Amino acid sequence: MIQTQLYIDGQWQSPIDHGTRAIVSPADESVIAQAAEATRADARLAIAAARKAFDGPWRQTTIRDRARLLNKIAELIDRDAEKLAHLESLNTGKTLTESRTDMGDIAATFRYFAGLVASESGAVNEAPHHVISRTLREPVGVCGLITPWNYPLLQAAWKIAPALGAGNTVVIKPSNLTPLTTHHFTQLVAELNLPPGVFNLVTGGAEVGAELAESLDVDLVSFTGGAYAGESIMKAATGNFKRIGLELGGKNPNIVFADADLDAAVDYALNAAFFHAGQVCSAGSRLMVEDSIYDAFINRLAERLPRIVIGNGFHGETQMGPVQSAQQHEKILGMVQAGIAEGARLVHGGKRPAGDVYKKGYWLEPTLLADVTAEMKIAKEEIFGPVITAERFRSEEEALRAANDTPYGLAAAVWTRDLDKANRMSRALRFGTVWVNDYHPYFPEAPWGGYKASGIGRELARIGLDEYTELKHSYINLAPKAMGWFGA
Ligand code: NAD
Repeated sequence: MIQTQLYIDGQWQSPIDHGTRAIVSPADESVIAQAAEATRADARLAIAAARKAFDGPWRQTTIRDRARLLNKIAELIDRDAEKLAHLESLNTGKTLTESRTDMGDIAATFRYFAGLVASESGAVNEAPHHVISRTLREPVGVCGLITPWNYPLLQAAWKIAPALGAGNTVVIKPSNLTPLTTHHFTQLVAELNLPPGVFNLVTGGAEVGAELAESLDVDLVSFTGGAYAGESIMKAATGNFKRIGLELGGKNPNIVFADADLDAAVDYALNAAFFHAGQVCSAGSRLMVEDSIYDAFINRLAERLPRIVIGNGFHGETQMGPVQSAQQHEKILGMVQAGIAEGARLVHGGKRPAGDVYKKGYWLEPTLLADVTAEMKIAKEEIFGPVITAERFRSEEEALRAANDTPYGLAAAVWTRDLDKANRMSRALRFGTVWVNDYHPYFPEAPWGGYKASGIGRELARIGLDEYTELKHSYINLAPKAMGWFGA
């Protein structure tokens, strides 16, 4: 049985009150680990350690030291990639193929930020000859990093790499449903003998996250998760006006025009909605199809859905695993029922698959609800499960209006062969990412984040590093002379 601990001030330790939490496999509900469950008191110790480390010799590290550190972490991720991928699949239920892809992306993220950090240089500003004026980038300080359960280590990597690379100290709190890969990652960091307190792991629930958001000793909190927690973090952060980054939910339209390559569009409509059983913040669960091809499109999806292989993520043939928790399972089924009650047509799924192997665990059939209209709850709220809701539209204007009519703004996709239309839609859709004739690609070089209620700030790319830095204007007068302005 895996047992996890907290990592505070360079020491592995149990929570002060010895709290533990059973970690359950979403595939069969068996207990796979006992995780340390911290409280606010543990979080305070971690914050104090990070504060002390930030104010100590860590501040003297050079960009070369930190770039080397990120590259070393990438090497250790590569070394333990199989182990990490297994832990991620065990804990989240996602297929091993998906977890292996995550680990590759995580190593790439560390390498990308290593390169960026190594190329950091301040700017020398134009100024009078007796003045040296520089613009310097400095670390923000102690960073509280709070991550969700759907991409546990990937979301952590997007935060840890730039935070450490910029010279900050870190307290990370993964979701208490999925701490296993972040725990193993911390073991890798512990191999590197960083100064105590530079990197701290505190596993626990909302109260630990709330402590990070509220603490006056935390300078920045970066959160990925739902709107409810995001709102409370934003409010708590006003206590010391700490820097915040919020990556929240989405309601992401996948818009198919009649002139699209339909083979590709049908195929990608499935990828958009069913990767990780739809538990992806950018999942394209809101399918919008042009009227003239709508019926044929739904029929083609209906043919594919029963062929999707649902099963244990460790089995090679599995295409879709379970959802994360009993709570998620119930919520998704409730959303499907709400859709049917509002008049949507259930084409496939909407229930637990039949068969003994699916009796335990949080299994759902891939689900297609057709004839959804923009007013229905299922067209407005994030489902976060393996559900496609299909709406019909008659014109570009109607598609655009309906797609933008959401409080969210994370990601959208457009399928068309008309380049002019592709460009018009790309510009007019109010989302942080707009794909044309594709779905889901993201990479460290491009920014990730949402418009409107999908969040504040961006991760990845140059800006993903800048978010962890303060800008300083350093002004040095080399030849000060009395001015005689006052009372001379
Ligand atoms: P969640 O908001 O319940 O929890 C996220 C994290 O916040 C967990 O670590 C949790 O313990 C912690 N937390 C909960 N309440 C808190 C509080 N009051 N103060 C501080 N911390 C608190 O989200 P979840 O259910 O774990 O994740 C699913 C959500 O995450 C979805 O809405 C999804 O869209 C979103 N998400 C967004 C992105 C993105 O990049 N925008 C990526 C992945 C997931």
